[in-house]
Amino acid sequence: MKLQQTAPQPRLLMGNNEMRRTEQVLVLGVGIDNVNLAEALRKIEEYVKNGEPGLVVTANPEIVMLARMDPDFKACLDDALLVTADGIGIVIAARLLGKPLKQRVTGIDLTTALFKQAVAKKYRLYFVGAKPGVAEKAAENIRNSYPGIEIVGTQHGYFTDDNEIIKDIKNKKPDILLAALGMGKQEKWIAERVEPAGIPVSIGVGGSFDVFAGAAKRAPQWVQDAGVEWLYRLVRQPSRFRRMLQLPRFLVAVLLSRFFPGK
Ligand code: UDP
Repeated sequence: MKLQQTAPQPRLLMGNNEMRRTEQVLVLGVGIDNVNLAEALRKIEEYVKNGEPGLVVTANPEIVMLARMDPDFKACLDDALLVTADGIGIVIAARLLGKPLKQRVTGIDLTTALFKQAVAKKYRLYFVGAKPGVAEKAAENIRNSYPGIEIVGTQHGYFTDDNEIIKDIKNKKPDILLAALGMGKQEKWIAERVEPAGIPVSIGVGGSFDVFAGAAKRAPQWVQDAGVEWLYRLVRQPSRFRRMLQLPRFLVAVLLSRFFPGK
């Protein structure tokens, strides 16, 4: 499939009565916002205040590769309020393209920092996703770690009819909804169902509820610092192997896009 080779329009943000542009690095047609964690949090704050519904994505190479094959998913990324570099592969890709990013902003780091901000700013949060009981357990652990945090609803992610869920979300009026349904599915569900419900900020968080619930563990800090968390996850979960094969393909595609733009 031929991808759009020009950069998507920079997003226009209204904040403190002034218009601001978000600088993006285009990785295989997907715009990645060049923001550090503090800037990402500030943008989320603006979006919550602004109230216009939209999506936040923490992108890894698998997400970019999926966007190449799935135009509906690509459209979600193009319309997103904010796309941060989650995977180390995205950070390497930006470097290979000669446009290094300020910082890697992972989904877990962003949500963890967001929980602190949520307490201070009194955000209302809503969790949808993971197996039955996991979002509740994650919410319980997060309430213990961030006293005062308002998690106003939780739902598991194995629903067939979501009408009751959407009704509950509308009633509880969260400022931020975290959806953990797996990449692709969560972003499309947000675009089709959550944004029309008028929720200001929705974030696709993949397997994060499993981590917050203690059902899945993140790699030790030194493994994260070495940039090989993907290897750790691969060893613990060999079923990820096929997905991990995307990484070398992704890097080759990035290099080709640098040296043969337009192909
Ligand atoms: N999941 C879900 N509903 C589904 C499929 C998946 O709630 O129909 C959940 C699953 O239980 C897990 C998360 O989505 O908690 C996906 O985790 P993974 O680490 O695979 O996320 P990805 O890497 O795809 O973003």
